[in-house]
Amino acid sequence: MSQGVRIAVVGGGVTGLSAAHRLRTLLGPTAEILVLEAADRTGGKIRTVDLAGHRMDVGAEAFLARRPEMPLLLAELGLAGAVGERGELVHPSGLPSLIRSGAAAHPMPQHTLMGIPASAAGLGALVGPDTRARIAAERTRPLEWAAGDDTDVASLVSDRFGAEVTRNCVDPLLGGVYSGSAATIGVRAALPTLAAALDAGAASLGEAVERALPQSRPGPVFGAVRGGYDVLLRALEAAAAAEIRLSTRASGLTPSGDGWWLDPVGQVDAVILAVPAPELATLLGRNAVPAAAAAASIELASSAVVALALPPDAPLPRNSGMLVATGESTHAKACTLSSRKWPSLGGPDSQLLRMSFGRYGQEDVVDLPDAQLIALAIEDLRTMFGVTGTPLDAVVQRWHDGLPQYGPGHDGKVAAIESGVAALPGLAVAGALLRGVGVPACVAGGRAAAEQIVAKVTGRAAGRV
Ligand SMILES: Cc1cc2nc3c(=O)[nH]c(=O)nc-3n(C[C@H](O)[C@H](O)[C@H](O)COP(=O)(O)OP(=O)(O)OC[C@H]3O[C@@H](n4cnc5c(N)ncnc54)[C@H](O)[C@@H]3O)c2cc1C
Repeated sequence: MSQGVRIAVVGGGVTGLSAAHRLRTLLGPTAEILVLEAADRTGGKIRTVDLAGHRMDVGAEAFLARRPEMPLLLAELGLAGAVGERGELVHPSGLPSLIRSGAAAHPMPQHTLMGIPASAAGLGALVGPDTRARIAAERTRPLEWAAGDDTDVASLVSDRFGAEVTRNCVDPLLGGVYSGSAATIGVRAALPTLAAALDAGAASLGEAVERALPQSRPGPVFGAVRGGYDVLLRALEAAAAAEIRLSTRASGLTPSGDGWWLDPVGQVDAVILAVPAPELATLLGRNAVPAAAAAASIELASSAVVALALPPDAPLPRNSGMLVATGESTHAKACTLSSRKWPSLGGPDSQLLRMSFGRYGQEDVVDLPDAQLIALAIEDLRTMFGVTGTPLDAVVQRWHDGLPQYGPGHDGKVAAIESGVAALPGLAVAGALLRGVGVPACVAGGRAAAEQIVAKVTGRAAGRV
């Protein structure tokens, strides 16, 4: 039934490659699957580089192992199972991470939802006595929240608990995930379980957090692939058996017959758009004007990663890394002590780490020359950990428009995009701009888009294929 079917996937990031792989699985070997990628490599925000002879991720480095998508995908690709059991799945060491606040290192806040506490008990010295008293009193202050409300995280948390909690606990964690801050991230899209607890009538923010906190479960929270994400990308490409056209930017999309005319590849039966928000807006264009406008209104944040290899005897602390509170004097917003965090990384010859710079609204640092970014990373290493010396190797990776900002009202934009695209047969959309920036959410979105398209081109439900 898939004989002669020609489907294009626009965007060769992990979303697009996951879509292509799912298309191949469902349609079999005869379908023609094209992946158009504007850059000269696949992977998008995922990139594995050589650093002092080791393979090191300078974009995404991990995934939430408790979501089902990555274990399922790794199993399909023959990469599941721990190293040594013929698999490539690795887990972090479990060494604690730190937060730098008030020019000192603190343990990560405990029992919080992205740094938002249910009580002051797990915050240690990240907040002072006034804030502790305010958090305790918050339970008795009436909360104004109507079901369906949305606001930015900073407004909610600062109003209820005080700005110290936002700066020292919430900003560092949100900065890590979205490259934004609590002021640019919306409650509903970034913390859906918290929004649900508020909608359900929680009497205070503390109570809502308590209700929304996930049950603690045994087993590691995060996973990664030994050898870096590149291993996953290559396995996806091999299994998708798609024709991948690098340095090929999709530049126009027009309905044509039963399918689409996609410049520059011509007539196709269906198209999956797996590109960032601005490119999605351009390609949707006149085909879905409100959806294109919604995509165009999603802001993006740029950042830079400086990966360093240090001599094996550099006295790095026994921690996985350090996040930085708002207002600190360091230039970096976070440091991952990669070979402390991932026992599979590095070796007897070197220790590897990553410094991250730039967050939404503070992006000038991203375009500093490489040498200056490396110098800032070395300076911050001394400030954060007292470690001095010359790196053995360094790689600078800039991520312009790297992460979409899920601001207040993001869900409405997603609904506008999805309903606009749903009205266009043979077109599907997926990617980090929609329902989660993490790799598992991107994989889920890519696969779901493929299933929609298969249902259209074969006229049957993908789940039964
Ligand atoms: C620094 C950083 C660290 C991160 N760390 C993690 C992490 O540890 N764990 C995690 O789960 N997530 C992490 N993320 C998030 C995650 O990496 C991304 O959200 C995800 O990789 C996005 O995948 P995507 O395929 O949706 O989009 P992209 O990776 O942006 O891919 C889209 C592709 O489309 C191409 N394209 C654009 N326009 C066109 C066009 N017109 N024609 C053809 N091609 C086009 C682009 O070149 C790009 O390759 C991180 C992100 C960044 C930036």
